[in-house]
Amino acid sequence: MRIGIIGYQGSFEEHYLQLKRAFDKLSLNGEIVQIKIPKDLKEIDGVIIPGGESTTIGLVAKRLGVLDDLKDKISSGLPVLGTCAGAIMLAKEVSDAKVGKTSQPLIGTMDINIIRNYYGRQRESFEANVDLSKIGMGRARFVFIRAPAITKTFGRAKSLAELNGITVLAQEDGMLATTFHPELSDTTVIHEYFLHIVKG
Ligand code: GLN
Repeated sequence: MRIGIIGYQGSFEEHYLQLKRAFDKLSLNGEIVQIKIPKDLKEIDGVIIPGGESTTIGLVAKRLGVLDDLKDKISSGLPVLGTCAGAIMLAKEVSDAKVGKTSQPLIGTMDINIIRNYYGRQRESFEANVDLSKIGMGRARFVFIRAPAITKTFGRAKSLAELNGITVLAQEDGMLATTFHPELSDTTVIHEYFLHIVKG
């Protein structure tokens, strides 16, 4: 199994290590590649879009020609895990808590509505326990960093976990979006769940 991680900025290294741990836990023979240019997308079975700054990730991916290829591949069923800024990249509807409408380059394949920087300055970064019973896991502690909120799931997308009534984990077929950073957690459950999706 070969998983690509978009590697422009954001938590590439942490996702790499967490994914390795998840491969070991599931006794999977996995390979991890860093995605920077379109040809890196060849022959991957799944892709992770890390957190960071969604505007930067989008602009760089567009300039290097990766954005359109990613859009095509994800639309044709390539499993994807988008975390924080990565979740923003996947959303069909995006706005910013402060400035409202945004016109940033997106992948825009997932039936979710997202508000960037939802938690505002007071809570730029916080940790919280999230109930993962809907995906057959227990509670787990995750970190939220200038996190967005998934304010609506529609179409085929489903909310799989909420925090104070706001969706923090959503899935639509092979697309998985988290508003928190699963790569910065002690638990590998989200990466394991993603690998189950990739395995099919
Ligand atoms: N606030 C960032 C954005 O809007 C996301 C933050 C993160 O990925 N930790 O893109």
